[in-house]
Amino acid sequence: MLNKRWRMLLFKRFSIIAFVIFLTEVIIFLYDERVGLLCFSIPIFLIRFLIIPSVFNIIVLVIGYLLLKSERYSETFKNITICMVCFFLCVCVELTHYVFVPVLCAPVIAIYISITFGNIKITRLLTVLSIISLILAGIISAVELRAGDKELPFEIVVAIIITVCSDGIASLLIQRERERMNFMLQCYQKQTELSEQLNRDTLTGLYNRKVMFDVLHGEIEQGNLVYLAVLDIDNFKVINDTYGHAKGDEVLLYLSKLFKKYVNRIGYPIRFGGEEFAIIFSNLHEENVIAILEKIRTELLNHTFVLAENGQITHITISSGLVRHRGLQSIEELFKSADRAMYQAKKRGKNNIVYVRG
Ligand code: GH3
Ligand code: MG
Ligand code: MG
Repeated sequence: MLNKRWRMLLFKRFSIIAFVIFLTEVIIFLYDERVGLLCFSIPIFLIRFLIIPSVFNIIVLVIGYLLLKSERYSETFKNITICMVCFFLCVCVELTHYVFVPVLCAPVIAIYISITFGNIKITRLLTVLSIISLILAGIISAVELRAGDKELPFEIVVAIIITVCSDGIASLLIQRERERMNFMLQCYQKQTELSEQLNRDTLTGLYNRKVMFDVLHGEIEQGNLVYLAVLDIDNFKVINDTYGHAKGDEVLLYLSKLFKKYVNRIGYPIRFGGEEFAIIFSNLHEENVIAILEKIRTELLNHTFVLAENGQITHITISSGLVRHRGLQSIEELFKSADRAMYQAKKRGKNNIVYVRG
């Protein structure tokens, strides 16, 4: 997405530059006294220095635009395309105006532009093409106007050296860019890790109280059908007092695994207190919600915990209250009614589910 935006920004800039090149050509033609000294007639001069380069630039821009806009090509191909647009505009100036020695180095602009995409292969490709274009400029130059000019080979060699040096600098800048990207990526990962930690209960890894209210808020705002279940382990204090806190934690961990197994993909399992849990279901059928709570209840009931040192087995149960969100009910009211339903389940002898229809 970012590269797409930058490709288009570069393309607009290159279009303006192509127009500036055209205007410069016109100004040179009108005001540069050397025009008359060159051994071309005026029509040939216009074709050679104005019409052909301008038509070439327009073709490059049109093809470039079509390739950039097409959905068929990969990101890398489009990155190469925009660099090539720049390269061809530069080469056109280079090959047209080789008599102005500085323009021999114009293609290095494309080498520096390629840094934007952080791909060393694209930069290398442009360097090789720039060197080829310089050799071509030397040949055209020697054939057309500067046959026997002893300075020409030196100028070409110096331009090649500048091109190679530019490649070296561009490669280093790409490396720096990559290091910066990696650093930013690490910061981003750290940040997501930290915000994830803020949303999770440290013991069980389930969502915490904060997430419960955020999710309820979001789901209700979107108009989804929301069910809230509040679940509380029965007689947990006795487990802690009899077998110790660490064994109590084992129970909590086992139960959280059950939640993850049955709820993770279809709802939000939450630990909002010591041995108190909640589950938010969104856009599920009533019978499915009850079936999931029932599966959790029976699987916990049937699990044999070995908490005592003598190997004696223990069974643990859970009581659940389930409510469905009603029209204008606030989140606090919804939570309170689910909690009340859970207490009703306790009153009815624990190890059961009480569903209160809205
Ligand atoms: P009820 O069936 O009515 O829910 O009785 P209960 O014993 O489960 O309820 P009570 O609220 O009296 O006890 C909850 C216990 O949960 C008290 C506390 O020691 C324990 N507890 C709270 N947080 C943790 C925890 O992180 N680890 C462990 N092991 N125990 C915890
Ligand atoms: Mg309890
Ligand atoms: Mg409790």
